[in-house]
Amino acid sequence: MRKKIVAGNWKMNKPLEDGLKLATEVINMVKDEVRNEALAVLCTPFTNLYSVGKLLEGSKIALGAQNCHSKDSGAYTGEISAEMLKSVGVKYVILGHSERREYFKESNQFLAEKVNTVLKNGLTPIFCCGESLDQREKGIHFDFVNSQLTESLFHLSEADFSKIVIAYEPIWAIGTGKTASSAQAQEMHEKIRTHLAGKYGKAAQETSILYGGSCNPGNAKELFACKDVDGGLIGGASLKSRDFVDIIKSF
Ligand code: PEP
Repeated sequence: MRKKIVAGNWKMNKPLEDGLKLATEVINMVKDEVRNEALAVLCTPFTNLYSVGKLLEGSKIALGAQNCHSKDSGAYTGEISAEMLKSVGVKYVILGHSERREYFKESNQFLAEKVNTVLKNGLTPIFCCGESLDQREKGIHFDFVNSQLTESLFHLSEADFSKIVIAYEPIWAIGTGKTASSAQAQEMHEKIRTHLAGKYGKAAQETSILYGGSCNPGNAKELFACKDVDGGLIGGASLKSRDFVDIIKSF
């Protein structure tokens, strides 16, 4: 059975006090209302991780980070290592978000190194992939996403591959209010799973593939009902406790 996951990506939002308020609301609502098996993850800014992690102790919600460096330690001013994340209770790390690929020029090769480091530290990468509108209009979106997966993940052993979570996030749908239709999401998720199966066989059937891109309480049910959509990576809607918890309840 594939794990169902709803991960909130807070991005660069919520200073500590606001973050604690949001996390507290989510914890209470999840406790009172969520009866399904979906795992919720809160991917907060680095500055909130330790304190939010303390609040999450004893809850069914896991702590996630939005990035980490590929190196173990050393002279990388301003960076955060996977070991540091682990030391504050982080379990999941978003890697390769399109905003990091675009603004910080993160390449597939660099992301392959980050994937290795995150796995080495016993954490779970949420590996993001997805095409631009231009790529989709040119009809090269499947090849582009496959190449992101091949170049960053296909060096992994089957044992390591089986620990990865994938998030398909079409760039044209992130933060735009324009969601992929459930047919578009299912089509791409199926292609992704087939591509992964070409390398890893049956293990790909167990890989959770999340959809991200303007997912909200109004469209989550239809998206999550798709055969190969195993949950969501949620940006804007994860900043409102009511919306985020309603999305978790959409399975
Ligand atoms: C994201 O940034 O991962 C994301 C999916 O954002 P949004 O839900 O706001 O489109």
